[in-house]
Amino acid sequence: MLVDGTLRSQSHPDVYGIGDAAAAHTQDGQVLRMGCGPGGLAAACAFHAITARLSGRTPKPLRVKGDALCISLGRHDGILQPTDLDGRPRGTVRTGRPVALLKNAVLRAAGWYNLRYPAIVVAGARQG
Ligand SMILES: Cc1cc2nc3c(=O)[nH]c(=O)nc-3n(C[C@H](O)[C@H](O)[C@H](O)COP(=O)(O)OP(=O)(O)OC[C@H]3O[C@@H](n4cnc5c(N)ncnc54)[C@H](O)[C@@H]3O)c2cc1C
Repeated sequence: MLVDGTLRSQSHPDVYGIGDAAAAHTQDGQVLRMGCGPGGLAAACAFHAITARLSGRTPKPLRVKGDALCISLGRHDGILQPTDLDGRPRGTVRTGRPVALLKNAVLRAAGWYNLRYPAIVVAGARQG
């Protein structure tokens, strides 16, 4: 789905698109990759855009400065690679058990807390 900077459909203004189905982009035109992190940020932005428009405020566009890829290698090791939005590696690579624990926490949050309390999670999220 082609959406504008606030995740609103370019062809159907009453419709918002998030997640893998939406070509969400930042103000400088960089398209977010498909993934759970970018999808969550897009959801938060869409939520704030909808509530802003309903209350007569101007919605803020999606702001995302960076991304990261996090992979666990079993329960005792993992890799966390910060990247630019286009996937280019940047910053310091983290490895080891703390990364495996972090990935486990992300998966638990996504599989439990987010599913039970999606409105609280999205409402509390910053827009990147
Ligand atoms: C095995 C696997 C591992 C992954 N690992 C990572 C990772 O490590 N990091 C990462 O960033 N991304 C990862 N991804 C990608 C990530 O899961 C997706 O990018 C993300 O889930 C997309 O979110 P979404 O909301 O667009 O779609 P989904 O999470 O797929 O949500 C779509 C929802 O819509 C529901 N649905 C479908 N059709 C209908 C219908 N007709 N009516 C009502 N509901 C419907 C589905 O049941 C589903 O709950 C992984 C994906 C897979 C499959």
